[in-house]
Amino acid sequence: MQITFWGVRGSYPVPGAATVRYGGQTSCVEVRSASGDCVIVDAGTGMRQLGNKLAREAGGQPGLYHVLLSHVHWDHIQGLPFFSPAYIPGTRISVYALLTAANELDQVIGGITRHEFFPMPLEAVPAQFDFHQVEPGVDFVIGAFHVTPIALNHPFGSVGYRIDGDGSSVAYVADTAPFDQVLHKQHFLSGPEPLSEDDKLALTAMRDALLARLRGVDTVIYDTHFLPEEYARFPHYGHSTPDQALEMCAQAGVKRLVLYHHAPSHTDDQMDQVAANYLAMGAKIGIEVLTSFEGMSLPIGPEAAR
Ligand SMILES: [Zn+2]
Ligand SMILES: [Zn+2]
Repeated sequence: MQITFWGVRGSYPVPGAATVRYGGQTSCVEVRSASGDCVIVDAGTGMRQLGNKLAREAGGQPGLYHVLLSHVHWDHIQGLPFFSPAYIPGTRISVYALLTAANELDQVIGGITRHEFFPMPLEAVPAQFDFHQVEPGVDFVIGAFHVTPIALNHPFGSVGYRIDGDGSSVAYVADTAPFDQVLHKQHFLSGPEPLSEDDKLALTAMRDALLARLRGVDTVIYDTHFLPEEYARFPHYGHSTPDQALEMCAQAGVKRLVLYHHAPSHTDDQMDQVAANYLAMGAKIGIEVLTSFEGMSLPIGPEAAR
């Protein structure tokens, strides 16, 4: 397998002089098998450039595309209307997400292309869209890939994906906070609430399930939006720090961690510091820590992580 990062930011795009090297586009990762099968994980603004590449590769012919959404916050869907293969008649686009009903997902994606927001409504787009609800605990297969959805701790919920293919595996864990307060069913401005015994059990179960899914994964891409001092101010925003991601990887025996979903405020110079600090910190405990940047492409497999 090969993964390529087309957008590595969280929250909103930040093009500009301070983000030239790591990139300013929001969440989008391409996962490709040796046989050429492809899944797209998240549809942030990075998806536009990926779409242009895929359309070129297809030579203007229709194709079948699979898009796994972690959740439908703006930074994970905003590239979808600008995905150029959608404008090639005969193309099919299957969108997978954690929502209560597939028709609700249809309404959400249809909603962002309503005529007030976008010149072409979803029903007029030449590609045919179909929507699939994913459920943590219910695996499914897309071409050469076995996909395992994983519940995460984020305002209104989010889902991570473990993707196995070609005898290797990658996990996409975004967006998520650590598992010490309930976020998946509350608005992020309401802040921390006292935990009931049931909440504590649910959080522990969610963390344990994530750890179990991460065990044996070759490369883990993790939401590391915040630095520790930022996290201390905004623990209820639904994001993690590189330290928290390292702790999860250490517990799961993961050997390679990719920092991802960088805060939009982090400049290239700050990101260089983050990359160097956590590379050194990971090396002490036997974990290779890479910091994602736009255009980064990585082979995935036991031999690649050595
Ligand atoms: Zn996000
Ligand atoms: Zn989010």
